[in-house]
Amino acid sequence: MRPPSIAALLLLSALALLAAPSRALAQRPRPQPQLPPPSITEYEPESTLVVPENFVERAKFPVVDFHGHPPTLADPETIAQVVAAMDRLNIQVMVQARGSSGERLRGQIEAVRAAGVEDRFVFFTTLDLRNVGPGSGARIAAQLEADVAAGAVGIGEINKGFGLGYTKADGTRLELDEPELDIVWETAGRLGVPVFLHTGDPAEFFEPLDYTNERWLELAIFPRRRFNDRTRYPSFDDLMAERDRLIAKHPNTTWVLAHMSWYTQDLGRLGELFERFPNVYGELGAVLYDLGRQPRFAKAFFERWRDRILFGKDSFQPDEYPYYWRVFETEDEYFDYYRDYHAFWKLYGMGLEDPELRAIYYENALRIIPHMPVEGFPGGE
Ligand SMILES: [Zn+2]
Repeated sequence: MRPPSIAALLLLSALALLAAPSRALAQRPRPQPQLPPPSITEYEPESTLVVPENFVERAKFPVVDFHGHPPTLADPETIAQVVAAMDRLNIQVMVQARGSSGERLRGQIEAVRAAGVEDRFVFFTTLDLRNVGPGSGARIAAQLEADVAAGAVGIGEINKGFGLGYTKADGTRLELDEPELDIVWETAGRLGVPVFLHTGDPAEFFEPLDYTNERWLELAIFPRRRFNDRTRYPSFDDLMAERDRLIAKHPNTTWVLAHMSWYTQDLGRLGELFERFPNVYGELGAVLYDLGRQPRFAKAFFERWRDRILFGKDSFQPDEYPYYWRVFETEDEYFDYYRDYHAFWKLYGMGLEDPELRAIYYENALRIIPHMPVEGFPGGE
């Protein structure tokens, strides 16, 4: 092939400039501060914006928290405290997604029954996916059968160690689509219990930690959230592809992807996933910062996919739930998020309509979790 002519090269660079005006601007010298600039942690400008504020202490409809991490529900005091917080927030049912199986699971189910609040909690079982080797699948599936017989109505949360940390008995990384575990996911499908799966972390955690990384501050604070060493961890996209192969193998199993699969910064990608797999749902825990910075696009997404989105909160901090209600239910503008290292930007309300609120707050959960108590929900007795 002939090298391009000078004229062609000039034309190309002129086109590149037109296509990238911001880069052309960035080449101009930037005015520099005449005072010592503050550090990223020192600079806390106070907003001067005055706009209507609508704080929402109680959700508009009764809620199922699909991603509950209350303390272990073993004694009457703890249970009473959690229920009191749920009452204040209008959380009707909480899924106990904190790891428990066998004795620990049965103990909690009994304690909640003894406290007379068995209609306020449901329990998921946890699978031990460490050191998987020949025969592990059948053993784990048997444990799953036993826990479901004891009252568990789902699996999970399966944490990000699955994919990022767990190794097999032979020392290699346990891949998400490991064939030995097929029998486990098939058993979940047969028993009709959803699998609540947390895979990876935000995509930025897998990227180089430089000053263009949108989560620089969080990664600087928490070294254990850095997954950008490719000799130790797969890339974000490779991990998600592995997860997709797992889901593709088990079309009769219901998969609930924690944190909306960490795709909230690219909802189009999440829509493609929902399109491809009708047995996949997204759970809303800890991604509010992304939804609140794109309230209009996110609202349209929720209208399109309202049957596939479930409310969940993750860490149990009662004073943080009202931020969710405010983003979902109001059209408030430019307000703070509760954790500044997640998001240094402000949030906006999505102003969801009742059909979307009902769907994400409780309808979808009542549909996909078996044996859900219906008392306390609209239409329930
Ligand atoms: Zn969790």
